[in-house]
Amino acid sequence: MFNNKEHGFKKFDEKVWLSSPTMHPESLAYMTEAYETNWMSTVGANINEIEALVCQKVGCHYAVALSAGTAALHMAMKLAGVQPGELVFCSDMTFDATVNPVVYEGGIPVFIDTEYDTWNMDPVALEKAFELYPEVKLVVVAHLYGTPGKIDEIKAICDTHGAKLIEDAAESFGATYKGKQTGLFGDYNVISFNGNKIITGSAGGVLLTDDLEAANKVRKWSTQSRENAPWYQHEELGYNYRMSNVIAGVVRGQLPYLEEHIAQKKAIYNRYQEGFKDLPVKMNPYDAKQSEPNFWLSCLLIDDEAMCKQVRGEQEVLYISEPGKTCPTEILEVLASFNAEGRPIWKPMHMQPIYRMNGFVTREGNGRAKTNAYISGGAVGQDNLPLDVGMDIFHRGLCLPSDNKMTVEQQEKIIQMVKACFE
Ligand SMILES: *Cc1c(COP(=O)(O)O)cnc(C)c1O
Repeated sequence: MFNNKEHGFKKFDEKVWLSSPTMHPESLAYMTEAYETNWMSTVGANINEIEALVCQKVGCHYAVALSAGTAALHMAMKLAGVQPGELVFCSDMTFDATVNPVVYEGGIPVFIDTEYDTWNMDPVALEKAFELYPEVKLVVVAHLYGTPGKIDEIKAICDTHGAKLIEDAAESFGATYKGKQTGLFGDYNVISFNGNKIITGSAGGVLLTDDLEAANKVRKWSTQSRENAPWYQHEELGYNYRMSNVIAGVVRGQLPYLEEHIAQKKAIYNRYQEGFKDLPVKMNPYDAKQSEPNFWLSCLLIDDEAMCKQVRGEQEVLYISEPGKTCPTEILEVLASFNAEGRPIWKPMHMQPIYRMNGFVTREGNGRAKTNAYISGGAVGQDNLPLDVGMDIFHRGLCLPSDNKMTVEQQEKIIQMVKACFE
């Protein structure tokens, strides 16, 4: 329960962001070069260069620069050959851009519950899902907040069942799993250069693959599917999804700073972890033996015993303050009142009105019954069963201000504010 009487916290003069673009002068130079050489189009040196540099970084054979990560995911769904009415297994706790492209192609997402070790797709639930839906031929997995999921196990399950794998590495560029970059494990993979990602082009995304034919298809589809003829000849449906050479200039100037941004984000994560060590909370976890995240966002999970009552409807939230306890809503409201930006955890897809009728699979099997109990208001499912993992993390978790330009003093103040919420 937060009470500022004893603390006397004051508003930050400048807003402390969740994660904002961190620009470097090289970006302006490459954009200017595009302008001055008149390559103001979707072809040019910046595009070629970033495709080569991204391949070098990730270790894949081919990269195709596109207008957004979402466009890259759409192209990945087309490469995987998603058909109308086809079921596709998808991460449940993620941004909806992971799953919407399945629906663009007429596919039907079936959501797989989350595990507590990395907050990503649970391989045990995925195995269960293949028992329930043995016909599924595609799995789409996201690496949340820059922390690699259990991708080896997930890949092995896909191989056993003859399913293709798409990695949504939009948030995890630069993160590694057993020494390999995320974006290297699936058949078709995606990173994003959206404005709040670890490095940015203001917008943009890249499709990654080791399959030359697949890369060439995406080059063609993303430029309106022109055939090799003297006129505009079309045999397939086309899209206008290619990245602009100006945007590619921004990305090109950012790429040399990826490791620096990761180091800054990691320092932020470590400072939070140290600052909260006496609180009844955990940071978003990772297995240091298996993986090195890019630490894009630092998140908190409040222990059950330290949660005050909090109920979330579709658009509104209520909580009851209680001495010694708090909840994500109270912390987010306190931070906002002092000009600092946090965010709730991604609301799981199986809880979203648009996807509420879709299948959802937990470790125990189908998780739908518990969903209904939660909607009616309680934080515990029917028969006092615990919530599914995604719901539980959404209920107790939040993203903290994680901007790499945040000063140590600003972060220290945020830590003190969060601590005050538990008084
Ligand atoms: C940002 C993001 C995307 C989409 O990328 P855009 O470039 O914004 O289209 C997809 N998936 C996840 C998990 C993301 O965070």
